[in-house]
Amino acid sequence: MKLKLAIQKSGRLNEDSMRLLKECGIDIGNGMNKLKAEATNFPIELFFLRDDDIPQYVEDGVADIGFVGENVVYEKAKKVEVAYELGFGKCRLSFAVRKGETFTDPSFLSGKKIATSYPVLVQQYLNEHNIQAEIHEISGSVEIAPGIGLADVVCDLVSSGSTLFMNGLVEAETILNSQAVLIKHKNFSIEAQEILARLLFRIESVKKAKKNKYVLLNAPNDQLEKIIALLPGMKSPTVLPLASPGWSSVHSVIAESDFWEIIEQLKNAGAEGILVIPIEKMIL
Ligand code: ATP
Ligand code: ZN
Repeated sequence: MKLKLAIQKSGRLNEDSMRLLKECGIDIGNGMNKLKAEATNFPIELFFLRDDDIPQYVEDGVADIGFVGENVVYEKAKKVEVAYELGFGKCRLSFAVRKGETFTDPSFLSGKKIATSYPVLVQQYLNEHNIQAEIHEISGSVEIAPGIGLADVVCDLVSSGSTLFMNGLVEAETILNSQAVLIKHKNFSIEAQEILARLLFRIESVKKAKKNKYVLLNAPNDQLEKIIALLPGMKSPTVLPLASPGWSSVHSVIAESDFWEIIEQLKNAGAEGILVIPIEKMIL
């Protein structure tokens, strides 16, 4: 048998998904523009789909597994299991408000018009906070909604925040941190389970083998929480006070693959004096 894997046909997750398979030593036979492709050296078959459709295909068992953003998994709320965090496609689902407005707490949203492509997750947030607001579902370019008078607030995916900035918006409150995950169908045959275990073993090995860097930076204490949240890894970073008051030195290990993206975000968050040091050995 072959394990059927659904990945995004084109878009932000496609390249990283294909790269991961390649790094796992899995060669994909035919071209990318087809709906399906087969691996030549591993029992796996690929389905290229819109990311929004992947949870449904996996729930139905048309695909056994899928690579898709958590944002889509939780918005679609299909009966699938999240089996593994893939570590790419990182972003957050956040409310953003017009520059100059201040979002102090969720009651800010009360009675507002919220434009979003994530009505389910936004409604959940509103329910949790007991807020009544109007949700306008838009499938793309959500960030332009306030500018054209369609909404007061948006709730959209953010990574650097530059798209928001260009549209005169500022990020106010994150409701979900997301990355690409491997989802699986609820019922798996023993054979499928075995192939998945082999795939996961390879994915895990690729992840471990990725080079890491040791990073030291200076952070203003009032930005510390934000900066620490940007740093990946299971263990929390080392934080030491600097001689100058109000500043701390933060030490952490960053994977090479995420390196530039994280460094940019750290700089935007107010980190200074960033030093990057190669690691000779990592004993885990
Ligand atoms: P499709 O045509 O497959 O429906 P799409 O336009 O819905 O594509 P993309 O913009 O390609 O989707 O984003 C796919 C996924 O990439 C998102 O669902 C999210 O998990 C992830 N992602 C990572 N960073 C961002 C970002 N800054 N903005 C949007 N999505 C991001
Ligand atoms: Zn989509």
